Amino acid sequence: MENQALEILKKIYGYNSFRKGQAHIIKNILNKKDTIGVMATGGGKSICFQIPALMFQGITIVISPLISLMKDQVDSLKILGIEAISINSTLSKEEFFQACHDLRSGKIKLLYLSPEKLENIKFIKFIKSLNVQMVAVDEAHCISQWGHDFRTSYLKIPEFIKSLDKNVPILALTATATPKVTKDIEILLNLNNPIKYIDGFDRKNIFFKVEKNINPEAYIIRYIKNHKELSGIIYASTRKEVDSLYQYFKDIKQLNVGKYHAGMSKKERSISQDNFLNDNVKVMIATNAFGMGIDKSNVRYVIHRNIPKDLESYYQEAGRAGRDGLPSEAILLFFEEDVATQEFFINSNDIASDKIIQIKRSKLDDMVNYAYLETCYREYILKYFGDKRIKNYCGNCGNCKKAKDIEDLTIDTKIVISCIGRAKEKIGTSTLVNILLGKADSKIERKGLNKLSTFALMKNKNQNWLEEFLNFLISENIIELTAGSFPVLKLNKNSFNIIKDKRKIYRKINETVSLNFYNDPLFKSLNKIRKEISVKENVAPYIIFSDFTLMEMAEKKPINRWEMLKIKGVGNQKFKNYGDIFLKTINSFSNEELEILKIENFIDEKYLSDNKLNNLKKDLNLTLDINSLKDILIKNLFSN
Ligand code: ADP
Ligand code: ZN
Repeated sequence: MENQALEILKKIYGYNSFRKGQAHIIKNILNKKDTIGVMATGGGKSICFQIPALMFQGITIVISPLISLMKDQVDSLKILGIEAISINSTLSKEEFFQACHDLRSGKIKLLYLSPEKLENIKFIKFIKSLNVQMVAVDEAHCISQWGHDFRTSYLKIPEFIKSLDKNVPILALTATATPKVTKDIEILLNLNNPIKYIDGFDRKNIFFKVEKNINPEAYIIRYIKNHKELSGIIYASTRKEVDSLYQYFKDIKQLNVGKYHAGMSKKERSISQDNFLNDNVKVMIATNAFGMGIDKSNVRYVIHRNIPKDLESYYQEAGRAGRDGLPSEAILLFFEEDVATQEFFINSNDIASDKIIQIKRSKLDDMVNYAYLETCYREYILKYFGDKRIKNYCGNCGNCKKAKDIEDLTIDTKIVISCIGRAKEKIGTSTLVNILLGKADSKIERKGLNKLSTFALMKNKNQNWLEEFLNFLISENIIELTAGSFPVLKLNKNSFNIIKDKRKIYRKINETVSLNFYNDPLFKSLNKIRKEISVKENVAPYIIFSDFTLMEMAEKKPINRWEMLKIKGVGNQKFKNYGDIFLKTINSFSNEELEILKIENFIDEKYLSDNKLNNLKKDLNLTLDINSLKDILIKNLFSN
């Protein structure tokens, strides 16, 4: 039986082996035993019920709290060639009848249900008439008042379970680990002597860090600009803050961002969410209303603009990064005044008892201590959740990896400051860049700025470097940029401390997680094809193939069916649907073209002079003529 499960994992999902918890849980379920599975986000919970569902001769009911989550899973299953449907409040009457008809026909393996549906006695009767083989309760912590996502509708589940045949195994899954919650799940769901499988909570691929004494808006803008290819979430604690960040980033800074909070209409929220899931919008600015049930696997970073109320919320929200297992970042921006906001939320809750207020205060204290930590962030988080396996050093967090490689930029900073001063604090960033590079345009000449002693003082740097450097100085609060439509650069106390040699400026080298593959030309092409398919099939790109799968393809460059099926995440059905088109792209990338495109990442269209092209040709020993070389480069520049 277990061999059959492994066979399904390989053939349908395209994975070679089960993760530890998965094998254990699947075995229990196949033996018809009630089971509680506690696994971190991204741990692979879905497979725990999907594979038994495929092996049972009948139907598996999956109870899930969120419609978006159900949609995601049903889409994913359909692409794998598995018959699944969801029944929830969004179905029209016709859709509902069609769903019931399909269920009766016996071809459906998995039925996703929202718990509210269990309030309808007639509907329950109908469900019972189907050959129910198993019930999976996803996000099972929603049944516990101790959890942070309690839902009254979950209290309907036990009655439903009781009405089913005793032989039907129940699988309760959650990522919330506290013993109180696990106990509640066992008792409230009325589980029969369940086997508990509690997996580790470590999210190894997430780099945790905290930033203090920075300019938050400038920091985030710089981060987004430096990670243009990547998806991220920016959490803020109030709707007002989300609105103002959104307006500033989108309207003034022209960044590709979306927003989400409970004050928006249902339609606005759903459009915004879809844009994010479909990779049309790379960055989502949101309150904590956003995220539950978001399965998007390629969220690469989560930045908290404000400190959240407790570590449970923080770890859950930060944990939305990196579900695909690739390196990701969780950054908390910390400001003392944000603690007061959280205290205000706690104190303004009139109905909470003294005891609850006390618990909330102590949880907030634990969260604030995290921000001030000098030791390993991961150790602290995991200890908080009762996992003591990491001791002192994880090697992958802001404190463990502190500033090993740093560059001293004090002299460059002094030049910038003095240039701003000499220009009487009346210029914006692009003028400053031109002055420092020694590019005198008509405006600079008219104002006599080309006569400044700092003119052309940094002509050995290039424009991109200088722009990024100014963003860095602004985000570190060394210089400031005024608001409004014509922002100008101003000096502050920190600037003067540097001029007076009271302070030095260091910048960490390579401080970002290494995600170079996002710039790999083959990865970019595969990504583009994935996007085209996703639009055509009307599902999110990560459902077609995860970033991890594309990365493996770009790295291993499979050239035939056999090699392609060895890539993680390519099973039989997906190969049948998409294998050829991806193979074709990989094959069409000749080695020569690949080499050229790798170089292209470092150059800009305006630098494509014949001279430069000739050098490139020589450097790479290319046989192509200059015009074809130029064509390839331009084609790719415009396709990004
Ligand atoms: P969870 O619901 O626990 O957050 P998912 O079920 O969404 O996690 O799985 C997270 C990711 O891990 C998905 O991309 C999934 O396809 C992948 N995954 C699951 N099981 C395996 C496995 N055995 N080997 C490789 N990848 C897996
Ligand atoms: Zn650490």
